Amino acid sequence: MPETTAHDHERHTGRATTPVAEYDHNDNCVGCGTHRNAPCRPACPFGTGVFDESTILRATVRRLSDHRVIDGQARAFVLRELGCVEWTVRRGQRHGGYHLRSAMVATAVELVGETHATSLVERAREFLIDFLVVEWGAAPQPMRVLVVYLHGMTADLQDIGLSLYAAAARLDGDDFNAEDFGEIDG
Ligand SMILES: [Zn+2]
Repeated sequence: MPETTAHDHERHTGRATTPVAEYDHNDNCVGCGTHRNAPCRPACPFGTGVFDESTILRATVRRLSDHRVIDGQARAFVLRELGCVEWTVRRGQRHGGYHLRSAMVATAVELVGETHATSLVERAREFLIDFLVVEWGAAPQPMRVLVVYLHGMTADLQDIGLSLYAAAARLDGDDFNAEDFGEIDG
């Protein structure tokens, strides 16, 4: 048995029971990637109760719909500031408006509890920022705090899901193939 580090402990739920496995739009476990029809891998967070940043990123995708700014005001403001008014009109109300960070926080609270959620989300968010900055090209440093917010507000569910899964795969050191990602049901 590997020694439990303080870092590991922080990711642990500290609960008597571990949350039941969650499955994504492809019916794969968001913790270990195993299909619903097969048992999870021994190292799956839903078995060990130790959740990492990549699981938070993947588990966030299925909760995004609950964190949409319904009235679109925030999204409209962001897009106006960016000079994207025409884009808003053309693509309609179906796109964007997701408050990505609050979806990540809600996910982490459910998986590891309130005590450990904040620090876990901050690490996941820092990684996602780095990922998006690379994906989008070099962004000026002051933009960093806005990158995750802007991505949630301006991209559709499919694109956000792709980003979160691709970031999680990079975090895990796994290959990610967008072709295998499939379609998220809106
Ligand atoms: Zn699993």
